Amino acid sequence: MSKVRTRFAPSPTGRMHVGNLRSALYEFLIAKHAGGEFMLRIEDTDQERFVEGAVDIIYRTMEKTGLIHDEGPDKDGGVGPYIQSERMKTGIYMKYAKELIEKGEAYYCFCDKERLSTLKSEVVEGKEITVYDKHCLHLSKEEIEANLAAGKPFVIRQNIPDEGTTTFHDELYGDITVDNAELDDMILIKSDGYPTYNFANVVDDHTMNITHVVRGNEYLSSSPKYQRLYDAFGWESPVYIHLPLITDENHKKLSKRSGHSSFEDLIEQGFLTEAIVNYIALLGWSPEDNREIFTLDELIRDFDYRRISKSPAVFDYVKLKWMNGEYIKAMDFDAFYEMALPYIREVITKDLDLKKIAAMVKTRIEVFTDIKEHIDFFETLPEYDVEMYTHKKMKTNKQTSLEVLTEILPVLEAQEDYSNDALYAVLCKYVEEKGVKNGYVMWPIRTAVSGKQMTPGGATEIMELLGKEESLARIRKGITLLSK
Ligand code: GLU
Repeated sequence: MSKVRTRFAPSPTGRMHVGNLRSALYEFLIAKHAGGEFMLRIEDTDQERFVEGAVDIIYRTMEKTGLIHDEGPDKDGGVGPYIQSERMKTGIYMKYAKELIEKGEAYYCFCDKERLSTLKSEVVEGKEITVYDKHCLHLSKEEIEANLAAGKPFVIRQNIPDEGTTTFHDELYGDITVDNAELDDMILIKSDGYPTYNFANVVDDHTMNITHVVRGNEYLSSSPKYQRLYDAFGWESPVYIHLPLITDENHKKLSKRSGHSSFEDLIEQGFLTEAIVNYIALLGWSPEDNREIFTLDELIRDFDYRRISKSPAVFDYVKLKWMNGEYIKAMDFDAFYEMALPYIREVITKDLDLKKIAAMVKTRIEVFTDIKEHIDFFETLPEYDVEMYTHKKMKTNKQTSLEVLTEILPVLEAQEDYSNDALYAVLCKYVEEKGVKNGYVMWPIRTAVSGKQMTPGGATEIMELLGKEESLARIRKGITLLSK
């Protein structure tokens, strides 16, 4: 068996869609699992869809996610160039297109726009394409030569017979047979001299010795045409693995509208790279046991492409958040602090102990953008409803709370040491003297100093952070509210 070689072949058209990242990840895993090679090829032959900066996004994402390629535009492995527009300049696509013409598997087409507009069209892969009537297949050798000599613009089309069938094999979908009459004479070389994506893809996968191709199943319908090209050249086709569609919660194709369809979207929403990669690995693949948390190395070890499922994979944002929370909990504190700091600084301008705040939220957040809602009360006491002082389980109400706050105020005014431990000891002493439950005292104090139902820490932890002056001001404010 030849060495496993896979490739990620993105078109630089914008952000890295979750589906593309999944293809890249599976390609990477298949290669690494088998001790093979993973290659990056840039498919930029569709100049109309090209987006400035998109190539940088590809490099950045691959590096960040750890999907390090062994070969690519920046790492020559001897089968380059690795960018299709550069490959084109070597004449490779034209050479192979001409070989097909000689074999009768392709032909020059000189039809102009006007004539094409009179032909039938149909929608394929979301695009409207003309069903070509093979008019130019019947041109004589002399006519063709005269047209070429006169510099008449042309395309080169694949010649697919009207009769018979073509069978193509996919690892997940098995053998797929289609009637040739259903296949259009697709363009291989465009009038600007560029190959079409479909043609360049076949030529490149073969000439770059690719053994396994992983891609979205939107390409499944073009695959019989690929098969015909492989057969015409007498090449062995790579193993094809077409992945199930990724849908949103409403079972619609995951699109930009969801707001989380790209890797960059997810990073901006506060997700960790490792969690995103882990989650994406499970979009269509599952291990033998039902394990869910995997490092990239563990994925390499366990990934078996035969376990990819054919059913659509639902992108479950809630589950991704849960997974991200698990990664945050497991993070080393210093690394967490470094990442959390910008989010904390967005909210806190006061001179507070930010490390302590970070430690408080680390186990409570699922994404970094959650930090804000957990800590904003440190900066300013929110307007709150006095009904919050009433808590059935703690046996508190407005009356008991007013009593507790009024009694504790002078104690806290006299207290010098505002460390968590010292404050806790003071409050426990009061609880004991009063002969009540802990919560009877802690609840109203925590409510007064935070103005929130839920906080990342207890009353005394919050007071330690706020300091004496601010803590007392908030307690006095509570007394005023409760006395109304
Ligand atoms: N350039 C194609 C894309 O970005 C790649 C499809 C394939 O991997 O064959 O969708």
